[in-house]
Amino acid sequence: NADLAMYRAKAKGRDNYQFFSDEMNIELTRQLAMEGELRQALQRNEFELYYQPQIDLTTNQLVGYEALIRWNHPEKGLVPPGEFIPVAEDSGLILPMGEWVLKTACEHIKLFNSTGLLPAHGHVAVNLSPRQFHDPNLVTVIRDLVTTADIPSQQLEIEITESLLMDNVESTIRTLEMLKDLGIILAIDDFGTGYSSLNYLKRLPIHVLKVDRSFVMDIPHDKDDVEITAAVIAMAHKLGLKVVAEGVEQLLQADFLKENSCDYAQGYYYGKPMSVDDLYKNIGHYEKWRSQG
Ligand code: C2E
Ligand code: MG
Ligand code: MG
Ligand code: MG
Repeated sequence: NADLAMYRAKAKGRDNYQFFSDEMNIELTRQLAMEGELRQALQRNEFELYYQPQIDLTTNQLVGYEALIRWNHPEKGLVPPGEFIPVAEDSGLILPMGEWVLKTACEHIKLFNSTGLLPAHGHVAVNLSPRQFHDPNLVTVIRDLVTTADIPSQQLEIEITESLLMDNVESTIRTLEMLKDLGIILAIDDFGTGYSSLNYLKRLPIHVLKVDRSFVMDIPHDKDDVEITAAVIAMAHKLGLKVVAEGVEQLLQADFLKENSCDYAQGYYYGKPMSVDDLYKNIGHYEKWRSQG
C-alpha cells in the first residue's frame, strides 16, 4: 500500500528512521519476509486455485465457478488470500502471481470442459487486482493465454472491484473495451462497497454485478439490506447487467434473491471453494440443485 511505500522511501533517508515506531518496524519486517517467501512460493509452485460454484437461481443449475487462490505454505498450511494478496500487490509480485492464476484458470477451463465439471458455456471467474488491471500487457497476456489454452474466451470471466474503476476513468474504460472485444465476460466484484454512481456504471462495458456479501448476510432480517439488495438487482437489470449475489449462506436468503429476480448465487449454502480434487468428488452434489428446480 501507499503507506508502506512511503515508509520504505523514508527508510532510505538516514535522518528519518527514528520516526519508525516498533510496531511499524515489526510490520515492515513481516511484510518484507513474506515478500521473500512469496517469491519462493512462486518458484516452488506452492499456489493452488480453489473453485466455488455459482448457481443459476431460476434453473438451480451450476453455471460456473469463481477461482480463488490459496497458498500451500510448507509450515503454516493453507494461507487465505487476504493474508498475502496485499503484500503481493504492494511488491509487484501480483503480476507474475496473477499471470499464474490466469494461465492455470484457462487450463482448468479446458480440463473442466472435457471432464464434465463445467456445463456448456459455463465460465470460470478470475479476480484481478488493481495493479494487474493497469498493467499495459494485460490484454495481450489474456489473449495469448486464452489462445494457448484453446478455450472460448466467453468462458473466462474477469472480476474487478469498484474502487479500481475510480483510478483513471478513461484508461479503465479503454481496457475494459479491449477485454470485451476479446469476448471476455466482465464483472464488478464487491458491488456496493465503493462509490460508483449509476451514471458511471452506465458508461462501463460490463456484463455482471456481484452484490457484496455484506448486503446479503443479514437478509431477510435487516430491512435496509433487503431494500438495498432489491434496488441494486432492479437497477442492474435496467442497465442490462446480470446479478450475482455473494455470500449466500441460508435458504431464506436464496428464496429472497429468487423472489427479487437475482440471476445467480454464490456462497456456502451452495458450496465452499474447493480444490479441483474435491470438485470431482462433489460434482454429483450439484445434480441435487438441478433436480430441486
Ligand atoms: P472475493 O473475490 O470477493 O471472493 C469471495 C470471498 O468470499 C472468498 O474469500 C470466498 O471464500 C468468500 N465466501 C464465499 N462465499 C461465502 C459465504 O457464504 N460466507 C462467507 N463468510 N464467505 C464466503 P477468499 O477465498 O478468502 O478470498 C478473499 C479475497 O481475496 C477475494 O474476495 C478476492 O478479492 C481476493 N482474491 C482471491 N483470489 C484471488 C486471486 O487469484 N487474485 C487476486 N488478485 N485476488 C484474489
Ligand atoms: Mg471475486
Ligand atoms: Mg466479492
Ligand atoms: Mg471481497
